[in-house]
Amino acid sequence: MKNWSTYIEWNPQEVVYPESEQAIQACVQRAIQDGKKIRIIGAGHSFTPLSKTDEILVSLDQYQGLVKVDKETKQATVKAGTKLFTLGDLLFEQGLAMENLGDIDRQSIAGTISTGTHGTGLDFGTISTQIRAIRFVNGKGEMVSCSEDENPSLFKSAQVSLGTLGIITEITLQCVPAYKLALQNRKEPLEAVLSSFRQRCEENRNFEFYWFPYTQSTWTKSSNIVTNEADKNSFFNYFTEYVLENYAYKVLCEIAHAFPSQNERVAKISAASIANVKKVYHSHKVYATQRLVKFNEMEYNIPIDAHEEVLKEVVRLVNSKRFNIHFPIENRVVKGDDIHMSPAYGRDSAYIACHAYSKKDPLPFFKALEEIFRAHGGRPHWGKMNTLKTEDITQLYPEFGTFLQHRAEQDPTQLFLNPYLKTLLGLA
Ligand SMILES: Cc1cc2nc3c(=O)[nH]c(=O)nc-3n(C[C@H](O)[C@H](O)[C@H](O)COP(=O)(O)OP(=O)(O)OC[C@H]3O[C@@H](n4cnc5c(N)ncnc54)[C@H](O)[C@@H]3O)c2cc1C
Repeated sequence: MKNWSTYIEWNPQEVVYPESEQAIQACVQRAIQDGKKIRIIGAGHSFTPLSKTDEILVSLDQYQGLVKVDKETKQATVKAGTKLFTLGDLLFEQGLAMENLGDIDRQSIAGTISTGTHGTGLDFGTISTQIRAIRFVNGKGEMVSCSEDENPSLFKSAQVSLGTLGIITEITLQCVPAYKLALQNRKEPLEAVLSSFRQRCEENRNFEFYWFPYTQSTWTKSSNIVTNEADKNSFFNYFTEYVLENYAYKVLCEIAHAFPSQNERVAKISAASIANVKKVYHSHKVYATQRLVKFNEMEYNIPIDAHEEVLKEVVRLVNSKRFNIHFPIENRVVKGDDIHMSPAYGRDSAYIACHAYSKKDPLPFFKALEEIFRAHGGRPHWGKMNTLKTEDITQLYPEFGTFLQHRAEQDPTQLFLNPYLKTLLGLA
């Protein structure tokens, strides 16, 4: 098995693809009987060894689809293995949509929420905040349900759990009526975008920007709901999104990899090729972009008010240290929440994400940036590379103790922990 970026490889004894909730429960009960450990995988799009195991790996690829939809409350219960691209279409058929999403739609819904995956927008929390109820099989082989009314504290731990409470089987989402988004991509100067980031986020439903290393250029993306605009998705859009951002970019990545001194030039060429593009379409098709060039990623959540200072430090560091990287650095915002292990716990947040081509060792670059993020109270995205230790989690997450208590109650024999998670959670 390999994760999406191919950075993490492992060799499970057995990969199980249950097709029903009963089969998922039976798989857990069998593992308990046989004294085996289980890890769960969604779409393998995390950059950390969350799913690594040499024992049983459970995939819910054969357990996808809608369970039920309540048109009045606009709540949809979905099978946990459902991929976001399938979910978007299924909800759309019901006249519904998710209120916000991240950059891609390849992940499973359970994998998405388990690491606190997010999009951008001051009015939107991580995708975990869109959940109203969760059902899972715990480490004792029991079915457990939780929601804001039923076991509310357990629910707050289950909303972002890194797959350590059990196998999530069903998720109830609060949806909204289907809507169209108009997305505007622009090239804009860094200084102006950085100093007005908060304002731009207030003016647009979803706003984010990418800064290109060694340049003064950013690529801004703003989207807003439209009701009367005709669909717009020209061949030029397709060409820039699919061909330039993927195939042409892949060639540039290979050149920069073969000739490291060319990274700066590649960053400048990429910045120069940003096109002003407008797209109008159904929301789930607008959020999602194609990511065919493989990279590794680290992303940190920082308090929103620290964003300008932190990014200025990042810009200074990258421009002075010349790490031989060229991927643009992504900046987004997320509303604070009350989910125990959510990086956005208790604070409106900005997220800064850095990427390195998959063939390159990302660690020197990531570690240098991580020091800046950590100095500002940064909390990592759980699915992305980081060097956080248990002591850091204890200090950064006020409800970490509550989370550990729920974990111990739901999985007393540590059926769902691998060595990485044991060390991370201080249970090794
Ligand atoms: C190209 C790319 C783009 C990305 N864009 C974004 C973005 O825009 N925003 C963002 O926040 N993140 C983004 N990510 C990160 C990604 O969303 C997260 O890593 C997400 O967790 C991956 O989902 P997955 O289905 O692949 O889960 P996996 O990576 O396979 O698993 C993630 C976690 O979920 C657990 N899990 C999976 N299924 C279950 C289940 N049924 N029950 C219990 N636990 C389960 C796993 O054990 C693991 O701990 C991106 C990643 C890539 C590779």
